[in-house]
Amino acid sequence: MDNSLVSHRPTVASEPGRTLRNWNGSDVSHPRVIAVPSDSSELAEVVKDRDTYQSPLRAAGSLHSMNACFETTGTQVMTRALNEIKVDLAEQTVTVGAGVTLLQIRNTLRPMGVQLEVTPEIGNATAGSVCCCGTKDSSLGRTGLGQVSSAVCAMKLVNARGEVEDVSEKSDPERMRVLRSSYGLLGIVYEVTFRIQPAVLLRYEYAVLPLVPAPTIEQMRAGADAMLGFAQPYANRIIVERRFRLPDGAGGPTRFSRAKRRFRDILWESGASFFPARLPHNWWFDTQDRLLQTQLRILTAIGGFTAHRWDSTVDFKPNRSDWVDFTFWAIPVSRWAEFTPAVREFCERFREQTGFRMSIMAEVYALARDQHSLLSPSPNEDMLTMDVVDTRTNDPLWAEFNKQFNEVAADFVGRPLLNQTKHPNRSLVQRTLGPEWLRFLEIRKREDPQGRFLNGFFGDLV
Ligand SMILES: Cc1cc2nc3c(=O)[nH]c(=O)nc-3n(C[C@H](O)[C@H](O)[C@H](O)COP(=O)(O)OP(=O)(O)OC[C@H]3O[C@@H](n4cnc5c(N)ncnc54)[C@H](O)[C@@H]3O)c2cc1C
Repeated sequence: MDNSLVSHRPTVASEPGRTLRNWNGSDVSHPRVIAVPSDSSELAEVVKDRDTYQSPLRAAGSLHSMNACFETTGTQVMTRALNEIKVDLAEQTVTVGAGVTLLQIRNTLRPMGVQLEVTPEIGNATAGSVCCCGTKDSSLGRTGLGQVSSAVCAMKLVNARGEVEDVSEKSDPERMRVLRSSYGLLGIVYEVTFRIQPAVLLRYEYAVLPLVPAPTIEQMRAGADAMLGFAQPYANRIIVERRFRLPDGAGGPTRFSRAKRRFRDILWESGASFFPARLPHNWWFDTQDRLLQTQLRILTAIGGFTAHRWDSTVDFKPNRSDWVDFTFWAIPVSRWAEFTPAVREFCERFREQTGFRMSIMAEVYALARDQHSLLSPSPNEDMLTMDVVDTRTNDPLWAEFNKQFNEVAADFVGRPLLNQTKHPNRSLVQRTLGPEWLRFLEIRKREDPQGRFLNGFFGDLV
């Protein structure tokens, strides 16, 4: 490493390059230099100075993405020094630096009794990433937002020409729509404004239904305002977490409710991966399929639990002994009944041919139709996701499973997220994101003809 690269640029804190890994080590980045700007002018200096800060320039938040979207052989821009938080209760917004995590936002807003409109499980994701990449939670209500970027009402970024762009929903809704799914390819974001709302209290219950024949979304919800499913294709089951919105002013969770919620979170954060990572694979996976539904049924039998929506935010710490890896596919609700038998058939065929089966159940989020971003995963109708999950992050059979699963999902008009779907390729992305992708490619080429932000991962897709 040539340290002279960084030594004559004292204004922006920089470090020599080193290998950076994402949370579970599935993907790596090998930057020549790491820049840590602390404000917009330092960020603009990094973007403009192509000699010191060589291309590709890729931002990095908490490195919790599930593919190599963050990788670079040039400059990694760490956003950790962009860390201010400003709450405006009168305007019902929170404005944060790009490096602020969803957990920090939750902890700032909670004492004020307010929350972000979309509160996913992942607490580590940073504002800079979630405003322009895909991060989701199940929609609350038939039309509720399911994508964090859709609740972003303004952002500030430095584009490929090194200019500051200050865009808001009010000033330029169409530009916001493009930026909300721009994946760092149109600029590096340094400040984000989210809408906030009064805290939402939910009651949680569980039900076990067959995966095939597929229940309708109404049967899965059974009157609930939101649902998250845990699909078990080998056992032909889907466990449904039903979330009922309680009226404003309802009393907060009791201590017993909090204890039950904690049990659910331990299962979520590490319980589901702890045993599969240690016990004989296929024997344990089948047993766990049975145990999990029993545990969640017991939770329901003893009254479910009540929790604030913000309680679902989890700190996925980097120091742990077992890992999970997952992919993302959203399937139109109108194709779900045909899709679930195809998933079961694929899983069984792959197990027969290779001996490999998924170690943990797949997550099924319900996303309402949403056109707030150009590359939205639910642009035309409500979608259900099938995020298949495994504990063997770097197993070649897991990679092969995902490559084949990509084709199954694409056959059912699935939509990917470019920071979460594993092993995407050019034809798959063109086929699944269709005309919106082509329009995005035109915009990207016009705004960044020299590929300042185009790394190898995205270079293979465009
Ligand atoms: C254990 C675990 C649980 C998860 N749970 C969920 C979940 O519940 N729901 C969900 O939707 N996702 C979930 N994810 C995925 C995760 O939310 C997203 O991948 C998210 O983008 C990660 O944010 P990050 O800050 O770590 O981004 P990074 O991984 O650091 O970066 C992701 C992408 O964003 C770009 N980027 C980062 N900052 C900026 C910026 N300031 N300007 C422009 N581009 C930028 C990067 O270049 C990269 O392409 C989970 C991931 C893990 C590891």
